[in-house]
Amino acid sequence: MFATQGATEYLDEAVTQAAHMLQTAHLAEQDDAGDALIAAALLHDVGHFTGTISGDQLMTGIDNRHSDAGADWLAQWFSSEVTEPVRMHVAAKRYMCATEPGYADRLSPASVYTLSLQGGPMRGDELAAFESSPHAQAACRLRRWDDAAKNPDAAAPTFEHFRPLLARLVRG
Ligand code: FE
Repeated sequence: MFATQGATEYLDEAVTQAAHMLQTAHLAEQDDAGDALIAAALLHDVGHFTGTISGDQLMTGIDNRHSDAGADWLAQWFSSEVTEPVRMHVAAKRYMCATEPGYADRLSPASVYTLSLQGGPMRGDELAAFESSPHAQAACRLRRWDDAAKNPDAAAPTFEHFRPLLARLVRG
């Protein structure tokens, strides 16, 4: 995926999907996230490729629910410490748009566009429901790396760098 579809798909950002996910994992590593959260960062957008609706369709106005598609796919091999921050990374954007002044202003244009498809900023009971998840904080950390990982000039390791980490986390 990193070498094929991910290396060519841009979804209206300045970096390919593969570069974006590698940069997200790199930021997680630099921020001393644990192995599970680094893996979640690396794989957070795989749902653009595994779901029944593609990432390209998301950019034409159909919510591809890539966070759920990705988390469900990853659950074949990984624990909830990996899958749930992935599942909640879109919710984390909606949460921080509602709770953090200035956050929405820093989103990329593509991310602002998809926000409208994904339900907009959270309201009412959604906020408390998000906060009550044991993975809420991890999801917000992942989201910040995600938002920052769209730099065409940023260096990041290759997928091979992360392979041993993934191998350690795969359930036997
Ligand atoms: Fe992302």
